[in-house]
Amino acid sequence: MELHRYTWVEIDLEAIAYNIKQIKQKLPITSKVIAVVKADGYGHGSIPVAKKALTAGAEALAVALLEEAIELRKAQITAPILVLGWVPPESAVVAAELDITLTFFQQDWLDQVNSYTLAKPLKLHLKVDSGMGRIGIRSEKELYSILYALNKNKSIYLTGVYTHFATADEPESAYFLQQKERFEILLSKLKQHWAGELDIHIGNSASAIRLPEDMYDYIRFGIAMYGLYPSKAVKDKGEIDLKQAFSLHSNLVHVKQIESGDTVSYGCTYTANEKEWIGTIPIGYGDGWLRKMQGFSVLINGKRLPIVGRICMDQTMVRLDRAYPVGTKVTFIGRQDDTFIAMDEISEHAETINYEIPCVINKRIPRIYK
Ligand code: PLP
Repeated sequence: MELHRYTWVEIDLEAIAYNIKQIKQKLPITSKVIAVVKADGYGHGSIPVAKKALTAGAEALAVALLEEAIELRKAQITAPILVLGWVPPESAVVAAELDITLTFFQQDWLDQVNSYTLAKPLKLHLKVDSGMGRIGIRSEKELYSILYALNKNKSIYLTGVYTHFATADEPESAYFLQQKERFEILLSKLKQHWAGELDIHIGNSASAIRLPEDMYDYIRFGIAMYGLYPSKAVKDKGEIDLKQAFSLHSNLVHVKQIESGDTVSYGCTYTANEKEWIGTIPIGYGDGWLRKMQGFSVLINGKRLPIVGRICMDQTMVRLDRAYPVGTKVTFIGRQDDTFIAMDEISEHAETINYEIPCVINKRIPRIYK
């Protein structure tokens, strides 16, 4: 794409490869990696991330929506893909056609799928709700009715079973262990009634970092693949070294000196105390650079300089320590020389989690791959 505004996200694909290697070193050889690239690869770009992850040692991919899986297939990606969310039963026809594995957990859903003609076999993973309270079967009764419905259609293959933890990233492990036990009880019932081979997976990034030995056949590796720690608790334990893949940059488009008493931006929330240099940067909440980032800082010339006044839809102002030329590089997230702004600092200032920031920095900002 031809750029007419120099505001861009840089994705360091080598960092993605590095993070996969780090987790693989911790996992036993029997536990493989599913790279989670839903929500456009957590805002990093699902196709380039998926391709890099697969060459770096991931064996499969996971997304939330069938649309996201189809996009990967259109990009000639042939690796196994699992859709983690609920898909309408009629969409099973397309999933089978494209060899995309679906998640299921409802007998009614299976009954409906059974009424369609599938040109190719449909692969399914059964989701167990062991305590997340989101999707999945919760009881033996549901399990048996599903197994009964499964036996009716020879084009449908149960190839996996999984669960998801609600508190894997928290220091307290009682609830995590309770969920694991609930899953394992249902798993043993399933194995008593199902002879076929099953891919079993329970862990996201936090679980895999904390309990690599307990991860069964696969881990579903999301946030840590992007070089972000699932929580402060996981980071502080120092069990894995990760490299942040995402950085956000722009340029100064206007530099001016204002007088003491002059104000900056909507609502005049910032007043200069003396003569000050103010720079304007073409990025704003219309790009997903949140209004809440008022009062945070950016990097210019390797120095942290404060954002002043309200963040507008398309522009942000910063107080400079001197006059810089128009075109000077500004870094919002990432590195300039020895100074670094971590994604975690941004999410802390915005009172959210690091997962949310690259997802909300939207498509108006192009992703450039290194
Ligand atoms: N598995 C499921 C079912 C998920 O919903 C997610 C993400 O939300 C993941 C795995 C990846 O989790 P994380 O990004 O914490 O590694």
